[in-house]
Amino acid sequence: MLTDVWQNFLSIVRQEAGSRIVETWLKAVKISHWAPEDKNIIIEAPNAFVKEWIASKYLSLFQTHLARLLHVDTLKVTFISSTEQAGEEKKKHSPLAFALPKKGIPGKVKNALAHKTRKNYGYLNPNYTFDTFVVGPSNSLAYAAACSIVETPGDQYNPFFLYGGSGLGKTHLLHAIGNAIQKRDSKAVVFYQTTDRFVNEFISAIRFNKIHLFQQRYRMIDVLLIDDIQFISNKEQTQEAFFHIFNSLYDGRKQIIFSSDVFPREIKGLAERLCSRLEWGLVADVHKPHLETKIAILKRKAQSHNEELSDEVAEFIAQEAMSNVRELEGSLVRVLAFSCLTKQPLSVELARKVLHREHDAQKKQKIDFDRIASCVCKHYSYRLSDLRSNSRAKDLSFARQLTMYLMKKMTRKSLREIGSFLGRKDHSTVIHAFDKVHENAEKDSNLRTTIRRLEEEILR
Ligand code: ADP
Ligand code: MG
Repeated sequence: MLTDVWQNFLSIVRQEAGSRIVETWLKAVKISHWAPEDKNIIIEAPNAFVKEWIASKYLSLFQTHLARLLHVDTLKVTFISSTEQAGEEKKKHSPLAFALPKKGIPGKVKNALAHKTRKNYGYLNPNYTFDTFVVGPSNSLAYAAACSIVETPGDQYNPFFLYGGSGLGKTHLLHAIGNAIQKRDSKAVVFYQTTDRFVNEFISAIRFNKIHLFQQRYRMIDVLLIDDIQFISNKEQTQEAFFHIFNSLYDGRKQIIFSSDVFPREIKGLAERLCSRLEWGLVADVHKPHLETKIAILKRKAQSHNEELSDEVAEFIAQEAMSNVRELEGSLVRVLAFSCLTKQPLSVELARKVLHREHDAQKKQKIDFDRIASCVCKHYSYRLSDLRSNSRAKDLSFARQLTMYLMKKMTRKSLREIGSFLGRKDHSTVIHAFDKVHENAEKDSNLRTTIRRLEEEILR
């Protein structure tokens, strides 16, 4: 019965407040206990951050709708978090604990190593700070989590796993956290490392028989920022080494932060024990920014180049740049450079001229059906003739529908042309496929990731 109540509640929230809330906040939340005699319902969130967020933002949604669904006039809602308790347990009993030496690393050694670490790789980009990061609905969760980590590193949200598409500000946020912690505590050893470099360092440590030093160096870090952890996929030995470093830092209550372009479970060839650790703490994602956020980012970036961007020009550039912030920045830089070099004022006309080649419509025209079909076929291991066939096998039908969806979304061709390319006489099949994929993608984050990847591949 409680499951039904919860499912009904989720669908009401979806209708009333949008599916984004359900996807972002309520997917991993559940009813832990219902005590009708006290009219008290206990809601369990996967971690403290989510707990606090939903309690502060959505309490009235819970009270109103759950009261109705549970047939009571007033309802007390109590929020609890599973990791707060489980995390404590894990810390106490971790069988894999790989403790720091009892007395810790002697101060002198630590200072020397810290110096070495910073000098070698611990480079934090001073321009990537919270001040230069524009917050909007697409990144507010990640931003809020990042800010709380700065307050109490190594405490509540550990590890912090930040994921999202390329160019959406993950690296920026990692550096911002590092810079802010370093500013608060200049002695803290804050270490930013890309996964590529981690892998290379590890390989070279093996070659030169310096594994011990390698591990020691990592174990004295206070805040470890690992960028693009997805690149550790299928690297068994590196994963093993990293696993021990992770345990050691985690047990020492040091803050660990990861970025990735996918959710931990979607990193291929990742050992289960490492995967589960990546998910232990808070997992937050960044999305593509909405128009308003894009405009705000452009204005902020222009200011940092000592230029003032009018609303009109900002909006024009924001609409032109298709997907991510990196692209947005690229467009802005081109427009600014052109205006400066040709000594022409910044105007919509000028921006149009410069960005013309990047124009969405033109990009769309460049993409053809063959490109889309071949990317989908490659992804799902089908042949074009399979997509064109009449087979209704479930997986194949889905791949076919996805192809239609991408064709409609990424080209300017008509429904009829799409249908006929795939051997369909009736173009309503294309409409149906588009709506279906669109609807499923709203609900299913895996599908959204697949679509994003396919789009990136098609545009490449
Ligand atoms: P990712 O690591 O997700 O691929 P980056 O952090 O490298 O993306 O971001 C790409 C560029 O976009 C950087 O120059 C970064 O400063 C900028 N950027 C991304 N998101 C924002 C934001 N919300 N506000 C300001 N700049 C941003
Ligand atoms: Mg990055």
